[in-house]
Amino acid sequence: IKSYGKLNLGSDDNTNLFSGVAMDITEQKGNEQRKNAFIGMVSHELKNPLTSINAYLQLLEVKANKAKDDFTSGVLGKTLVQVSKMRNIIGGFLDVSRYESGRISIDIQSFDLSELIKEVEEESITTITSHKVIFAPVEYTLVNADRDKIGQVINNFINNAVKYSPINSTINISCVSKNNLAEVCVKDEGMGISSENQKNLFERYFRVQGEHMKLIAGFGIGLYICKEIIERHNGKIGVESEMGKGSVFYFQLPL
Ligand code: ADP
Repeated sequence: IKSYGKLNLGSDDNTNLFSGVAMDITEQKGNEQRKNAFIGMVSHELKNPLTSINAYLQLLEVKANKAKDDFTSGVLGKTLVQVSKMRNIIGGFLDVSRYESGRISIDIQSFDLSELIKEVEEESITTITSHKVIFAPVEYTLVNADRDKIGQVINNFINNAVKYSPINSTINISCVSKNNLAEVCVKDEGMGISSENQKNLFERYFRVQGEHMKLIAGFGIGLYICKEIIERHNGKIGVESEMGKGSVFYFQLPL
């Protein structure tokens, strides 16, 4: 239904009449499904040869290391980094297609969220040198959830905070329990997001448009995957943001 309105027939008439415009979106949905299946198929076809290339390069690297051939080792190391980037991109597209068609399984287990956040913190110390990343102390918080996927959401929020905020600015990560919910927040001092764009942020392939965005690589799939993961946990995901001041991305999980 595109639009509808209630017709007012006067106070003595109890009949409710509605006028509206209905639009058939069957074809549109069919196109969407075909596009999704196509992206899934292409990603799958690219993944297999790339996995073989990765394995062969690793073999060569072992050989070069044994032969103490530093030049070849160095070149192979750099090539493997690029192959790993390509594998991550393809993995992202495969995930989108799996979430779209419901072919993703959530592996629920009981775990302590504070321990997971500690692991993310330890990893971030070595991987993020461009920003001040501050983790607030977190108390023992037992949740029933897919540990890897929740870790994926936290990492995605942090990686976005790094990508979309200036070098040397601060990123704060916190986790609190309130009203039977655990809430994880990632706050940055970045460019912020207008309220208009906030509405579409968690949609597949959505990226805020602008000149500066052309310099930052991305496909607009990370937040879509985060939303799918949190919704499959009956949780809530959201953002609060002010242009030029920064953003807070958060999710809540039932305790
Ligand atoms: P990607 O970063 O690969 O484009 P995402 O799905 O992770 O994909 O994010 C979608 C869009 O949301 C980004 O392109 C960016 O415009 C906006 N965005 C995400 N995180 C932030 C942030 N912390 N600050 C400002 N904009 C953000």
